[in-house]
Amino acid sequence: MADTKIPYADKTWTPVVGCTRCAHGCKNCWAVTSARRLAGMADADDAKGRNSDLKARYRDVLNADRTDWNGRVVSSCEALHQPFRWRKPRRVAVCFMGDLWHRDADNEIIGEVFDVMKRTSQHTYLVFTKRIKRAAHWFDVWMQEALPNVHLYFSASIQSEVNAGVPWLLKCPAAVRGVSLEPLLGPITIPEKFFYPGARLSERCGLRSGRGMDLDPLPSDGYLNHVIIGCESIGGRLGRLSVDELIPDGPAAWPYWRGWCGDIVDQCREARVPVYVKQIPLVGKLCKIPALFPEVLRRQELPTQAKGT
Ligand code: SF4
Repeated sequence: MADTKIPYADKTWTPVVGCTRCAHGCKNCWAVTSARRLAGMADADDAKGRNSDLKARYRDVLNADRTDWNGRVVSSCEALHQPFRWRKPRRVAVCFMGDLWHRDADNEIIGEVFDVMKRTSQHTYLVFTKRIKRAAHWFDVWMQEALPNVHLYFSASIQSEVNAGVPWLLKCPAAVRGVSLEPLLGPITIPEKFFYPGARLSERCGLRSGRGMDLDPLPSDGYLNHVIIGCESIGGRLGRLSVDELIPDGPAAWPYWRGWCGDIVDQCREARVPVYVKQIPLVGKLCKIPALFPEVLRRQELPTQAKGT
């Protein structure tokens, strides 16, 4: 049973926690809020004489009033070894309470995380980072092979971040290379050179809406294999939709956002790349129920390599 609300994963794993804001998408960092809640739970455990366990780590990575990260990054041996205890194959979201390639995460620690992922090949790991340039340099020195069970995602919110980051992503060895446009904060055209040039839209290849679509696999090396799109949520409510100067945030931005999302879905269809629309603004509210999405946005597709994992 899933222990996370992340719809394309069923487990989270946080061997490294802590972060620093570094991009447009960080302004309303969801993880800080979660870290504050977990630090508070650790306090309550301590007050009752209970073992606060791994929750205590979050006190060490927050500032004095717990409104932001303090810049420290903390790793935990106990957390590192958790995947060995999960017998059933899981889809594991890695380090969502920070960024594995934060400048203060040691190269050796990152290596240990990859070693655990290699030795627990029954699981599929989804590793997201905004520090894709450091990730590319790290792979260059520390790991040149692509682990078949590791899917690597670069997180971006606006066009300039996509343009700057995806070339680094495509240098990294990974079974799946994806871009996560969440929160999407402006119109984005994914440059064609990031998609496999031989891809052709084909009825035969079985593009269908809905979960678990079945696509013929495309060559994965050097191209994007998956795109995730979502609007910003803050505490379960709709967050910002735009940092585009021409589209002010607020109600006026709702239809624009859905247009941007639809454009990206179209780009993925043309390129035969699976796309996963996670959540959208609908009548001013955050909507996570695909059945309520406009039909063109009702796409929750996973890359072929992810099937059955
Ligand atoms: S990289 Fe992720 S965890 Fe770190 S501050 Fe940005 S949104 Fe938060």
